[in-house]
Amino acid sequence: MSFQNLELIEPILKALTAEGYTTPTPIQKQAIPLVLERKDLLGCAQTGTGKTAAFAIPILQILQQQKNGRSGIKALVLTPTRELAIQIDESFAAYGRFTSIKHTVIFGGVSQFNQVNSLRRGVDVLIATPGRLLDLMNQGFIDLRQLEIFVLDEADRMLDMGFIHDVKKVIAKLPVKRQTLFFSATMPAEIQKLANMLLTQPSKVEVTPPSSTVEKIEQSLYFTNKTDKQKLLLHLLDERNIPNALVFTRTKHGADKVVKFLSRAQIKSAAIHGNKSQNARQNALKDFKSGNIQVLVATDIAARGIDIDELSHVFNFDLPNVPETYVHRIGRTGRAGHSGIAISFCDAEEKSELRDIVKLVAKPIPVVEEHPFPLSAGAVTQKVLPKQRSRSIQRRY
Ligand code: AMP
Repeated sequence: MSFQNLELIEPILKALTAEGYTTPTPIQKQAIPLVLERKDLLGCAQTGTGKTAAFAIPILQILQQQKNGRSGIKALVLTPTRELAIQIDESFAAYGRFTSIKHTVIFGGVSQFNQVNSLRRGVDVLIATPGRLLDLMNQGFIDLRQLEIFVLDEADRMLDMGFIHDVKKVIAKLPVKRQTLFFSATMPAEIQKLANMLLTQPSKVEVTPPSSTVEKIEQSLYFTNKTDKQKLLLHLLDERNIPNALVFTRTKHGADKVVKFLSRAQIKSAAIHGNKSQNARQNALKDFKSGNIQVLVATDIAARGIDIDELSHVFNFDLPNVPETYVHRIGRTGRAGHSGIAISFCDAEEKSELRDIVKLVAKPIPVVEEHPFPLSAGAVTQKVLPKQRSRSIQRRY
């Protein structure tokens, strides 16, 4: 199936060709016709599946086809992080470049001056994070009375990040008659409740449950001492000639320490986390995307939704406490059909996290036994083996 089969208008097809997209991803195939039919949508999909285009393309088409001179915000996309907001805005720019649809993005952490100016010039599509949106609404800069389409992106992350109250406040101010597109990678009870409240007879589209995303990615596990993790990372970057890697640490301080260590070893790297200014984060991301730096070290919140094409390696320098986070992290590589490699370090204190991850992905992670920085004797690993694993995979987790 190609994009031609989705009955898209010429300006959008032309933009997709310019982007080099030939085939719609599964979520695009399913969602685009439904959104064009003006159905409410419940999309279970994570970043990396092509979900942004799955809503951006039909929204652009609907608005372009009804362009009737009426001004006002007709579509609102609410997303949890600045990075995601910027990326969604870039997607609207890319897919909409041959249309006359105007869009802008607003997020916190920077001056509102330019954002207010672009709102004043008038936009059809507004992409926003919840805090700044509410702030500018309260100041009277945003009028949503013309709104027709509301997209709630990464609803489960909104909950994780404590934004759900802000989201509900925004929702309370939207016109009741509207089309709602609701996206979430997971569906905890509270999110299901919110979906039930927001959606009217929704069509459900579900793609790549975590385990199938994980299957495409070559995973490996290194048991090592906490104090040897930096050296092991350096060793692997060197030995494997790794072009670019996203390294996840559990803490901001940990991220800074890794960057310091890599810099001393002449490896170009930068950290992104909550203590960095918005500018520093954006510059780091830009440098990483352009290949100016080899390693980006990130905490989970900062890295959420970061979209880097052709990312070859993800390192779990520290294992996450929440097993789903493992799936989100390694899903950064192996995107849009590329193959990816995920390497995890596990020290003596992280075995219970590892056990939970193995349970979630329901698949053993191959262990690399031969490496220069093994976990000290006595701390090794028999205890984390899932009980019913067969002998042949005894050295996998
Ligand atoms: P998303 O899930 O929206 O973050 O998209 C993941 C990545 O896939 C982004 O880098 C998109 O540019 C890319 N992408 C989205 N749709 C397609 C497509 N149909 N063909 C190729 N790449 C795509």
